[in-house]
Amino acid sequence: MIIFGASARTKTIGEGQFYCPNCQEMRRYELKQARQYFSLYFIPLIPLGETGRFVQCQTCGMAFKPGVLEMKPKEKPLDLAGLINTAKTRLEGGYPVEYLARDLNAAGLERDMAWTIISAAAGAERRRCPNCDLSYAATVTACQECGQPLEG
Ligand SMILES: [Zn+2]
Ligand SMILES: [Zn+2]
Repeated sequence: MIIFGASARTKTIGEGQFYCPNCQEMRRYELKQARQYFSLYFIPLIPLGETGRFVQCQTCGMAFKPGVLEMKPKEKPLDLAGLINTAKTRLEGGYPVEYLARDLNAAGLERDMAWTIISAAAGAERRRCPNCDLSYAATVTACQECGQPLEG
C-alpha cells in the first residue's frame, strides 16, 4: 500500500521587530516560509510549491500575512492646535477634506469653524473622487483611498 500525504513544513527566513496588531505593542517576530511536500511513506519527496509566507508574533504566537510588517502603530490623535497647524500640509499632501473636517470635529471644533479652517488652509476650490465621494485640495491629483484620478 502506498500512502500519499501532504504535510506542511515551515522554516524561518527572517526576524525582527514589528507592531503586533494582537498585542498592540512592538514585538519580536519570525518570518516563516511554509512549504508543502507530498510524502510517500512520510518521506518528503516533491515540494508542492510555496504555500505562503507568514509572520508570527513571538509573544502571542499569532500568525499574520507579511503585509503586517508595514503596519504602523496608530498615530496618536493630534491636538487641535497641531491639526490646525498641519491642515494645509496635510490637505496638499492628499489628505481628504472630509477626513480633516472629521478630525477637527473630533478634536472639539465646531463644524462651521472646521470648514472655515479648511478653506483658509487649502482654498475654496476642491477636486472630487468620483469613486469615493471624497474631496481634496485643488493641488491633489489622485484619490488617497482608491488611487482614481480626481475630477477637477
Ligand atoms: Zn502578538
Ligand atoms: Zn477614491
